[in-house]
Amino acid sequence: MPDERIHQSLADAAHMREEHVHEARIHEDRIHEDRIHEDRIHEDIERVLVPSAAIAARVRSLAMTLGEDYGHADGRLTVVPVMTGSLLFAADLVRALPQRRLRIQLTTVSSYGGTETASRGSSIVGALPKHLAGHHVLIVDDILDSGGTLRLLRSEFEARGAADVRACVLLRKRIPSALSTPCEYVGFDIDDDFVVGYGLDYDDLYRNLPYVGTLRRDARTA
Ligand code: 5GP
Ligand code: MG
Repeated sequence: MPDERIHQSLADAAHMREEHVHEARIHEDRIHEDRIHEDRIHEDIERVLVPSAAIAARVRSLAMTLGEDYGHADGRLTVVPVMTGSLLFAADLVRALPQRRLRIQLTTVSSYGGTETASRGSSIVGALPKHLAGHHVLIVDDILDSGGTLRLLRSEFEARGAADVRACVLLRKRIPSALSTPCEYVGFDIDDDFVVGYGLDYDDLYRNLPYVGTLRRDARTA
């Protein structure tokens, strides 16, 4: 190798090392930031079940798995986030996916119930995602509870000619109805508590919390 090229590759290697150090520092800062955030847990939260650092790490690993499983689907992947609960999860997940050409089509499912919706029947609100024929559809939802939402969406998308339909949820409750509902990708299995944060709400509040936690009883007004 001529001297110039050796110098150039040494310079490149040094640059890459610097970038790594920089990335590692960003990572440390992020963990530090998380600690700061979660030292100040909102007073309405009883217990943090999934800290933000754990969510971020799981989102990265899910995205890696999805990246491999959908390696063949470039340009033919449609991600369908279920609003509004999966807003934060879906936003983080699609940014971490290696697939660069995918479509995002939102859908909203209303579950009948009060402020603490455990759905006893679901229906799709508004227009269904379009042009699904031949597409690999990935439903992204916040939490798997009764399974009504996933069952409904899966059958609708299959009927619309999707090449295949899979589901990815951040959380799944350790209850028979959830565990027996087909779901290809699960972030965390949690106990059967009512949870809020990272997209999940109580009366439309707390969606913005960066972690998932249980709500204090006295914060529930309904
Ligand atoms: P499924 O159709 O599986 O019963 O219901 C899933 C939907 O119910 C979720 O997308 C979410 O909107 C709501 N849900 C179920 N469990 C909880 C929970 O513990 N906390 C919150 N905030 N929403 C929940
Ligand atoms: Mg939902």
